[in-house]
Amino acid sequence: MTKGNGRLAIVAGGAGFLGSHLTDLLLDRGYRVLCIDNLRTGRRDNLRHLEREPRFDLMEWDVIVPLPGKDQKRLRPAEIYNLACAASPPHYQSDPEHTMLTSVVGTRNLLRLAEGAGARFLQASTSEVYGDPDVHPQVETYWGNVNPTGPRACYDEGKRSAETLAFDFLRTGRVDVRVARIFNTYGPRMRADDGRVVSNIVCQALSGKPVTVYGDGSQTRSFCYVGDLIEGLNRLMDYGAPDLGPVNLGNPAELTVRDLVDRVVALTGSEATVVEAPLPVDDPRRRRPDITKARDRLGWEPRIGLDAGLRATIDWFAAEAERVVAEDFPRRRNGNGHAAMPAADGSA
Ligand code: NAD
Repeated sequence: MTKGNGRLAIVAGGAGFLGSHLTDLLLDRGYRVLCIDNLRTGRRDNLRHLEREPRFDLMEWDVIVPLPGKDQKRLRPAEIYNLACAASPPHYQSDPEHTMLTSVVGTRNLLRLAEGAGARFLQASTSEVYGDPDVHPQVETYWGNVNPTGPRACYDEGKRSAETLAFDFLRTGRVDVRVARIFNTYGPRMRADDGRVVSNIVCQALSGKPVTVYGDGSQTRSFCYVGDLIEGLNRLMDYGAPDLGPVNLGNPAELTVRDLVDRVVALTGSEATVVEAPLPVDDPRRRRPDITKARDRLGWEPRIGLDAGLRATIDWFAAEAERVVAEDFPRRRNGNGHAAMPAADGSA
């Protein structure tokens, strides 16, 4: 039997980009999986392929609200992964109060569920806890440089508070906790509309629209392919001793946003032009994880290079665009029952 051995893993935020890939990996490894998701930024489509999987279930629920008492008693998860929280700035800033409460109240509710069940708990934290960092690359011992009152604070400070709660539950012996500080991750199932740098650039390049670079594009990021990241989360959960403290998971290969644009434009064969837009408030200048701890303790490091990861992502977005057009086609039939013909410029 594979290592999950039919045990139950709960993935909060399981209908999202990372959560749906994690769900696939856990099912592959023999777990039963219950995703808990309010579907605010996640999509049923991300889990559609599991509709007939008897070991999988999706519960539409907001983690800010404790699970009903009967479910708290009935569910005996061995592991809880807490990925619930909108991750892209336009989404988490659209309802900052909900974002903060998700990280604070939602994390507390899930920690209490883990406590009741004796489950191991993994909190998906973020490189944003380092804010606009004075230390480069970012190592886990760095306490960060976060603006606590700016528009990103609902996310950054919410995640910092979630870490605090998780380590308090650990320190007091209530829950066996792991904390992953995730750096920019990309890949299939990102949303085209979520305003993250890779999805923005890929979608614009594929559609031939001008590609937007915020600022002059000299800010740096380090991009990790989703398959690598998910493997890291699972290894961290499996790690025997909870004395690790937070662990950075990301790809240390750093490049400027401008370089990323050039790579995507070359890989898509696009002739898109590049336009500059103002840099968002509190946008970090540099981002690169020090992954020494993950390498030494988990034996983990990313294996997928940027070009291979970008190709897989570009192929997925291209296929997705075709699928959406094909599914939309019947809805675009005109009143005579005839399919509406595209106009000469390609628009319907
Ligand atoms: P995502 O927005 O695709 O997924 C988040 C999921 O959580 C969605 O399915 C959403 O509907 C759900 N959710 C949000 N609030 C909820 C609530 N109150 N109750 C129940 N469900 C809720 O984002 P993602 O990229 O998959 O990120 C997953 C996690 O990883 C997040 O916690 C994020 O902070 C963290 N993270 C992601 C990245 C990245 O690059 N993708 C980087 C750092 C940290």
